[in-house]
Amino acid sequence: MTAPFLSLAQIRNRLALTARQILRDHQPGTDGRCPVCRTSGCTVAAAARNVIDTAEDVQQRSTATPPATPDRDDPQHTG
Ligand SMILES: [Zn+2]
Repeated sequence: MTAPFLSLAQIRNRLALTARQILRDHQPGTDGRCPVCRTSGCTVAAAARNVIDTAEDVQQRSTATPPATPDRDDPQHTG
């Protein structure tokens, strides 16, 4: 399935890619509810956002290249 040895960058990229796909699937509809979970506060999307944020944070610290443009339109609201 996957190569036996992945660099940290590859792992990070895969995590971010998967998280983005999840985030797309769990994007709230016009009523503000997740179409998959059918709730207004989708925890899956929140978790995916955390993964993306963490992956980009690591990338910014470890490399000088600019991160891929994040396409999130809602600010983080914790609590
Ligand atoms: Zn959801």
